[in-house]
Amino acid sequence: MPENITNIAYLIAAVLFIYGLIGLTHPRTAVRGNLLGGMGMLIAVVVTLLRSGLDYELIIAGFVIGGLIGAVLAIKIEMTAMPQLVAVFNGFGGGASVLVAGAELYKEGLTGGDPGLQALIAIALSGIIGAITFWGSLVAYAKLQGVVVPDQPVRYPGEQVVKVLLLLASIVCAVMVVQDPGAMNMYWYLVIIGSVLGVLLVVAIGGADMPVVIALLNSYSGLAAAATGFVLSNNVLIIAGSLVGASGLILTNIMCKAMNRSLANVLFGGFGAIQETASADDVYGGKVKSTSPEELAMLMETASRVVVVPGYGMAVAQAQHAVRELYNLLEARGINVEFAIHPVAGRMPGHMNVLLAEADIPYDKLIEMDDINPTMQQVDIAIVLGANDVVNPIARTDNSPISGMPIIDVDKAKTVIVVKRSLSPGFAGIPNPLFAADNALMLFGDGKKVMQETVNAIKEA
Ligand code: NDP
Repeated sequence: MPENITNIAYLIAAVLFIYGLIGLTHPRTAVRGNLLGGMGMLIAVVVTLLRSGLDYELIIAGFVIGGLIGAVLAIKIEMTAMPQLVAVFNGFGGGASVLVAGAELYKEGLTGGDPGLQALIAIALSGIIGAITFWGSLVAYAKLQGVVVPDQPVRYPGEQVVKVLLLLASIVCAVMVVQDPGAMNMYWYLVIIGSVLGVLLVVAIGGADMPVVIALLNSYSGLAAAATGFVLSNNVLIIAGSLVGASGLILTNIMCKAMNRSLANVLFGGFGAIQETASADDVYGGKVKSTSPEELAMLMETASRVVVVPGYGMAVAQAQHAVRELYNLLEARGINVEFAIHPVAGRMPGHMNVLLAEADIPYDKLIEMDDINPTMQQVDIAIVLGANDVVNPIARTDNSPISGMPIIDVDKAKTVIVVKRSLSPGFAGIPNPLFAADNALMLFGDGKKVMQETVNAIKEA
């Protein structure tokens, strides 16, 4: 295929990516955005495959093996484990960049060719960023999957010095790769140092700070892909990688604001420090009151405004359809029902929006944290449905792993009903004084079951 036709096709693909991203900024246009982005990717893949000099046997083998693994994972994965799957996919992107850049360097070494300064710099960047992304994402996966305890960041004396030294060592290796492309060993040293750095950067992060890291790793995977685009002189990979890198960085910024962290804090891994928090016995001892679906149904009779605060537990219980039924019933009785959305509720950005959209909750009923908080005092009943950290008032104090994180001020509502199975902590692993508050009642049970029982109780009342 002539070069100019290829470039025009890549340009069309790039425009489709951009319109796809614009579409993804709003739930109403998200499906169309996804379709446009997918079309762009299809054009990019087909045009790339039509380029000459490719070994189709290997490509088909890769396609079949990768497609099978992807399909099995996608079919088998629980909805609640989707964030860790996304983290791993981010990591695989980084890993692929490391291998492609390494293969290119190896090929040039074999043929005695000179890749040129730009390609060599790109190879070094792909190696280091790709390795950080791969190993960092695997650690993020382990934390989200509960393989390692998420709220226990690994801390040791002089950790920042160790990271700076590793960064300097990686720069030295990168310079040596650029100066002597034949020294393949140096590339692998670079990758090993990047791998150690990736692990150390993410193991140091604990508590509720993981969303920032996941967004940042997403951005890194884009940057690694863009660098690989320069290695392969592939314009569409450069564009797509840059778009992922930039949008990941914007998301990182949004997440930083949501977690009340600065980007510098994130980059130097200086957050999530271990702090002493009160024990569960101190916080709850004799102060927790519980209620039942029947009592909640009775309380609803006098309510005029109800706010549901969904969290990770709603995803676990798959309670979104049952809560939709409750919404229909209450709205039909003239009660105003809204959903308060915290930016880091659940385990991935937009997690709650996706689940509630799946249950056809109208978009205008999903209210962002900053918009709903000033009105929480006028709320008759706040139903906390499987949320914990995002409503934990301890975030307002200085001595907890989630200090400074803005929360949804449910404790200011007239009555708070907390639906969860036990008094177990959330992702940050700390007790929640909300459960022992004077205006709070615990409704213990699985989120979906409790919502269904409440619907039945309202119907029978
Ligand atoms: P949390 O993890 O704080 O709490 C979820 C609660 O849901 C648990 O306390 C659990 O209690 C309850 N739960 C679990 N299963 C069920 C069920 N079947 N029925 C009812 N309740 C259930 O969730 P939040 O959404 O409040 O906070 C999100 C946390 O995750 C934050 O700390 C955030 O930083 C972090 N995070 C967010 C990411 C993002 O991008 N959104 C990414 C990574 C981490 P019990 O076991 O007693 O039922």
